[in-house]
Amino acid sequence: MSDNTSIRVAVRVRPLLINELSKGSKEIIEVITQNDQLLVKYLEKDTPYTFDYVFPNTSIENDVYNKCVKHLIENLYKGYNVTILAYGQTGSGKTHTMGTNYSGQGDMGVIPRAVNDIFTFVKDNFSYDFVIKVSFMELYQEVLYDLLSQKPRDQCVLDIREDPTKGIHIPNLTEIEVTTASEVFKALERGTAGRATSATAMNAQSSRSHAIFSVNISMNHKEDCLNNKQATLNLVDLAGSERPKKTLATGTTFKEGVTINKGLLALGNVISFLGDEKTQHGFVPYRDSSLTRLLKDSLGGNSITLMIACISPADYNLEETVSTLRYADRAK
Ligand code: ADP
Ligand code: MG
Repeated sequence: MSDNTSIRVAVRVRPLLINELSKGSKEIIEVITQNDQLLVKYLEKDTPYTFDYVFPNTSIENDVYNKCVKHLIENLYKGYNVTILAYGQTGSGKTHTMGTNYSGQGDMGVIPRAVNDIFTFVKDNFSYDFVIKVSFMELYQEVLYDLLSQKPRDQCVLDIREDPTKGIHIPNLTEIEVTTASEVFKALERGTAGRATSATAMNAQSSRSHAIFSVNISMNHKEDCLNNKQATLNLVDLAGSERPKKTLATGTTFKEGVTINKGLLALGNVISFLGDEKTQHGFVPYRDSSLTRLLKDSLGGNSITLMIACISPADYNLEETVSTLRYADRAK
C-alpha cells in the first residue's frame, strides 16, 4: 500500500442533465482541481472541502479510473482485498460511475475497467494459475438476495455467517467461475436485471437497495504453493442517501428509506472509526447493520477502501449535496 491509511475518499460532480438545463437549474459547485478541493456556492461557510480526489463535471470515466482505481486493483495481486463504494443521493451518478449496468458496450465505468485490467494481468502472468469467481448480491431492507441464482427471488435469500477461521461467509451464494471479461459482463447484466427497484418522486429508476458485485481471485503458484494468494474486489453501488422526506414517499417506500439510512449510517460510523488512528485498534461497530456485517472482512484490516461520493451540481439538490459532502468528509 502506498501509505498507511487504507481509506481514500473521492468526490465526483456530475454535469447538469438536459432536463435540469431546460428547467433553468444553476450549478452551485466550484471545483479547484489542482488542490482536489471544492466549494459550495450560497453557503455561508466559504472554506473549501478537501478530499483525496475531486473530479469536476467535465471528468470522464477514464479520468476517474486512472487516478483513483487502477493502482488499487494492483493490490489484489498481493493478496489485499479492495472495496470500492459509490455513495450519494439517487440521480447523483453512482451507477454511471461504477458501471453497474454495463452489459458489454457503451460507457465504461469502474467495474468493466477493473475487470478488463484483471484479465490483462492474468493473460500476462505465467507464474500462477488463476481461478476467478464472481458473485452479485443485493441488500434490500436488511435482507440479502443472491442476484446470480437461477431460483425465484423469494428463494434467493442469503444468510450472513461469521466463522472464527473463515471470517464472514455467505452459505449457498452463487459464485460463477469466469475465464473472460465478457463472461463477467454477462453475469453483471443478468444480476442487474433482477434488482429490486421502486418508483419514487425523485427518480423512476431509483434504486433503494445496495448492490454488491464481487470478484474473487485465487492465485495458485505453479512451483511454490507457499506463494499462493487470494483476494476479493468488492464493487458496491450503495442505495440512494437521500432522506425519505425528499422522495415524498409514503407507505413501504418510506419504511425503505428508514432502513436504508441505517446501513449507510453504520457504514459511515465504521469508515470513520477505521480512518481515525486513535480508534484503529479498538472496537469497530460492524454489527450495527447487515451492510457493515457483510463488508466486515472487506473494510479495514487487510483491505483497501475507496469511497466515491457522487454529487449533483444543481441548486435544487443543495441540501442533499451538502449532506453527502459531510458524510464523505467524516470518512476521510
Ligand atoms: P444514481 O445511480 O446515483 O441514481 P445514475 O448513475 O443513474 O445515478 O445517474 C443519473 C443520471 O445522470 C443518468 O441519466 C446518468 O446517465 C447521468 N449521469 C450521471 N453521471 C454522469 C456523468 N458523469 N456524465 C454524464 N451523465 C451522467
Ligand atoms: Mg443507481
